[in-house]
Amino acid sequence: MHTLVWFRSDLRVADNPALHHSCQRGNVTACYIHAPERWKSIGYSRSKKDFIVGSLLVLENTLAQLRIPLHVIEVRNDLEIPRTLVQLALSHHCQNIAFNQRILIEDRLQDELIERTAKSSGIDTTPYHAATLVPPGQINNSSGDFYKVFTPYFHKWSHYVQNNDVQTLAVPQSQNTTHISTKWINRSDLQIENSKTLWSPGEFAAIKQLTNFCSNNDKYASERDIPSLSATSLLSAHLSIGTISARQCLKYASESSSPMDSWIRQLAWRDFYTHLMLENPYLCRGLPFRSDSDRIPWRHDKEQFNRWCDGQTGFPFVDAGMRQLNTTGYMHNRLRMITAQFLAKNLLIDWRMGERYFISSLVDGDIPNNNGGWQWSASTGTDSVPYFRVMNPLLQSKRFDPNAEFIHRFIPELRDEAPTNIHHGNLTNSKYPKPMVDLRKSRHRVLTVFKKLRQ
Ligand SMILES: Cc1cc2nc3c(=O)[nH]c(=O)nc-3n(C[C@H](O)[C@H](O)[C@H](O)COP(=O)(O)OP(=O)(O)OC[C@H]3O[C@@H](n4cnc5c(N)ncnc54)[C@H](O)[C@@H]3O)c2cc1C
Repeated sequence: MHTLVWFRSDLRVADNPALHHSCQRGNVTACYIHAPERWKSIGYSRSKKDFIVGSLLVLENTLAQLRIPLHVIEVRNDLEIPRTLVQLALSHHCQNIAFNQRILIEDRLQDELIERTAKSSGIDTTPYHAATLVPPGQINNSSGDFYKVFTPYFHKWSHYVQNNDVQTLAVPQSQNTTHISTKWINRSDLQIENSKTLWSPGEFAAIKQLTNFCSNNDKYASERDIPSLSATSLLSAHLSIGTISARQCLKYASESSSPMDSWIRQLAWRDFYTHLMLENPYLCRGLPFRSDSDRIPWRHDKEQFNRWCDGQTGFPFVDAGMRQLNTTGYMHNRLRMITAQFLAKNLLIDWRMGERYFISSLVDGDIPNNNGGWQWSASTGTDSVPYFRVMNPLLQSKRFDPNAEFIHRFIPELRDEAPTNIHHGNLTNSKYPKPMVDLRKSRHRVLTVFKKLRQ
């Protein structure tokens, strides 16, 4: 059998179910379809686009070594994808189109359309699961419903992982094809704009990073909240486009001699938010998990929002986080929580504005994780931070950046400022902005709003 394997958010040859199983059944032709309007409607950042294109170039090389031809095709929008896939399959005499499923509702609807379009041309489709560590539908409570709270979900998740041998799939054997021309139809939009991308693309870079992280990771649990240290894996960009799979992460972590439980728990959070969005597709359409929170009079103050985006709030830890995001395309998890809470709680600005800004700036922008993180921070989600918990950015910097190393790194105006001044808000530098809100008053405002709602 000859199969057309469609690459999507799975830009790797190792542990790739669609590729692995198709190669076992016969010959394979591969394709990637670029729909610029999709990228535009999601609002992906330039750094993420560069990361995808860079990873695609690595994939092209790797597939060529396996003698698998890759066709990179550009279409205007998602609607053109089913017809394009079927035409490509027909022109290469493929009897089957195989792909790994994505989880957004739009993707699921598209999969159904592809199946119908292919069937009418006598072609079968084979969807595979690869997006999460545990397949969707496996972790339910005793009534058969999806867990709404992480801790019981995590207990079941851990049980599943321990009792089901979560295997990774091998890289397929090289094909016996003589002709392996790779075709990029219209490379125009698929250019790496920023050649000095900070993130090394492709699956080999991902494996190297994972190997280094797992072999030198005694302090993850104690240091993962300190943004000035490089204690976390920095694998989120790779996980978001599938240059590495969550199963590969678990495998390497399980074989490591370092204590990895705390890190594996983060992989479970990733599964939780992905499964949650699959169960509640409205979440990716801008709706809160807790519908009552839509009655909150969220503010849309453009001037204040821009100050937050630019890292000019006058609160050093918040500004350092935003400037890290703006200059590197990445933000440490602790800062994501602090900056998100500052926007949604202290400024009472619609969390969806922040959610969109993150996606448009992050190299690891991932719809379920980002939505989960924002709804957690704004107390609109399931299993969120309680509404009365509002992180104080001054206390947070004192605790998680005591020597102000992270703040000094990202805010040059404050390089000569003593840490105690920074943590007490006694800044002497007149070039740095004054605090844009009073922390006590803004906390009181948001608590009043939430109390009224939850009465
Ligand atoms: C407001 C907000 C927005 C966020 N937006 C994103 C996003 O767009 N993309 C994204 O991948 N993560 C997002 N996160 C989660 C988390 O901040 C990042 O996954 C993490 O900082 C990535 O760094 P790392 O790879 O070094 O993580 P590590 O600590 O090494 O964790 C390993 C992996 O576990 C997953 N993970 C870790 N923490 C979380 C979490 N809290 N929720 C879900 N998965 C997690 C990620 O895939 C990560 O790569 C967001 C969190 C918040 C609070």
